[in-house]
Amino acid sequence: MKIGMSSPDLTAAELQSIAETVHSGTLSLGTKTPAFESAFAQYVNCPFAAAVNSGTSALHLAVIAAGLGDGDLAITTPFSFVASANCLLYERAVPVFVDVDPVTGNLDPSRVEDTISRLSRSGDGRRLKAVLPVHTFGQPSDMDALRSAANRQDLILIEDACEAVGAEYHGRRAGSLGDVAAFAFYPNKQMTTGEGGMLVTARRDWLELFQSLRNQGRDIFDAWLTHSRLGFNYRLDEMSASLGLVQLSRLDELLAKRAQVADWYGKHLAGTEDLIEQPTIVPSTTRMSWFVYVVRLAATISRGDLMTELEQRGVPTRPYFTPIHLQSFYQKRFGFKQGDFPIAEDLGRRSLALPFSSVMTEEQVSEVCRCVLECVTSGAPVISK
Ligand SMILES: *Cc1c(COP(=O)(O)O)cnc(C)c1O
Repeated sequence: MKIGMSSPDLTAAELQSIAETVHSGTLSLGTKTPAFESAFAQYVNCPFAAAVNSGTSALHLAVIAAGLGDGDLAITTPFSFVASANCLLYERAVPVFVDVDPVTGNLDPSRVEDTISRLSRSGDGRRLKAVLPVHTFGQPSDMDALRSAANRQDLILIEDACEAVGAEYHGRRAGSLGDVAAFAFYPNKQMTTGEGGMLVTARRDWLELFQSLRNQGRDIFDAWLTHSRLGFNYRLDEMSASLGLVQLSRLDELLAKRAQVADWYGKHLAGTEDLIEQPTIVPSTTRMSWFVYVVRLAATISRGDLMTELEQRGVPTRPYFTPIHLQSFYQKRFGFKQGDFPIAEDLGRRSLALPFSSVMTEEQVSEVCRCVLECVTSGAPVISK
């Protein structure tokens, strides 16, 4: 039985839609992208959406809109995919990492408040411009608490919703909770466009800024070779947009299938909680958008050895995440070290993503769990005393 780490969920409808776009001859700047944007804005329940060519591009443009420049500060999480902090570095802004909630792995709002107070006392407060939470693994951050912390200093709230399309926080959709949000459609995400991303916002001025920045800095009224500002080529192509339209129309189906796979994992791992801790969904998460299935291993389990043993049994896994502050270039550039953010580091050492996608069968899930249990009960080298 071949089990993949992740897999896109594609049907004949996606293929047909792409084929129609190819046959139309309009491969960029056509009608598919605006159609994808308006359908996406409606899904997220946010007035405006601007498609771009990746989630990272979306985050970069959100950082520009927030006015973050040379030496400005933004509070963000160290327990994430590296792009959520890199986007600040692109504009020479500086991430202020704050440790995470041990249950969700999301930014801890009380620590964010403390950090805002500390920065304003030290005089660095005026450089602080934004808070950038990540909805880790598809579970929304505590946005009400982060909003009230941010409002005390008029900080912009940027949602990294790249792992959380369709997730809901107290009944409200991820992406409609901050001032601007970024989504991503890489093939391992809940819905895909191949490469692709989306910005959503309620601010019309920011929508127009995003439309200009992604298109070489042209304003709507500019002639083709006139450029009002320094822009980028972050456009989404029409094939990707037509793929996105079909995936979006199937998103609730895709999320339901992923929730079913997560349930199967819960069922087949039941009773092993002292060794393999399953993900916790907190009450504010009224709808989980399952991005990955990440378990936490007991301290006695050697993650590296377990990964090797599982690989030999044909089960791929990933160590989610090396905290961003411990990536070598962050350590070199900012002087971060082991021990700076102990909760993120603990999660980073113990978290293991198991194979996960909407196309997995219960038989595959049960096989993965059988292998995991076999390895963790077989003793050394996986288990130490
Ligand atoms: C996937 C992801 C991104 C980046 O998306 P790309 O489309 O790969 O550029 C950013 N932030 C987080 C948290 C992600 O998981």
